[in-house]
Amino acid sequence: SNKEFAGRSVIVTGAGSGIGRATALAFAEKGARVVAADLNAQGAADVVREIGAAGGEAVAVVGDLSGQEVVDGLVTTAVETFGGVDVLVNNAGIMDSMSAAGDVTDAEWERLLRVNLTAPFLLTRAVLPHMLEAGRGSIVFTASEASLRGSAAGAAYTAAKHGIAGLTKSIAVTYRQSGIRANAIAPGGTATNIQVNADPDALGPRALRAYMGNVGQPAGAGTQAAAIVFLASEAAGNINGVILPVDNGWAAV
Ligand code: NAD
Repeated sequence: SNKEFAGRSVIVTGAGSGIGRATALAFAEKGARVVAADLNAQGAADVVREIGAAGGEAVAVVGDLSGQEVVDGLVTTAVETFGGVDVLVNNAGIMDSMSAAGDVTDAEWERLLRVNLTAPFLLTRAVLPHMLEAGRGSIVFTASEASLRGSAAGAAYTAAKHGIAGLTKSIAVTYRQSGIRANAIAPGGTATNIQVNADPDALGPRALRAYMGNVGQPAGAGTQAAAIVFLASEAAGNINGVILPVDNGWAAV
């Protein structure tokens, strides 16, 4: 089989479930040494065990990536265990309550921005010195259809995911002469364990309902993983700063 990531060190956040889990498995299948980071210890341990059982190499890092100490520990583990960071997949994220801007609480706003935007930034900042030293690296974000439009989630999630699109493009432009690329996938509806706790009678969910119905059957997480692996690969060497919809055409509507 194709081991194009043989010997490469790949961090995947949110690797314990859904898109991150599928991505960790897909990289391992291509020979990568995977650092599987997740808040959920069981999920992280399961994917590490599965990779090991298939003859691959992986290590788990458990913790909330919205904290600087967990982020620093993750990067230290990658560097000490696998010698550096060749690929960073900033994938971990949470859904909001689909609330309209006027209904978002401080707590929801702060948590959503912290987990979905600040945490990927913190990890990117911590990884960049290692990629700069190596003279190469690829960063892939899991953005969202909510990075492209206002009809895919609530105000907090939409703002955070638009922020991810901006961060992706900023990194792409400023590090393009340093051998470092940054891209994102924008998944449409995908069958994972992500939770939405929405009050169906509130303004946000009522306003969004008509659009959510257009998503159709959710794709499998494997389709998102394949796009992430492609963006990180040599074949995508001239692709930098794109937000790639993986949504069966939703972004084209
Ligand atoms: P999921 O819930 O199945 O997996 C997400 C994983 O991230 C979980 O294992 C969770 O424990 C972990 N996580 C959450 N917060 C964390 C934190 N603070 N620190 C460490 N780990 C944390 O969901 P998923 O659908 O696979 O989500 C992955 C990404 O895909 C998210 O960024 C999400 O916004 C994005 N996305 C999902 C969909 C969809 O329809 N499922 C659509 C667009 C974008």
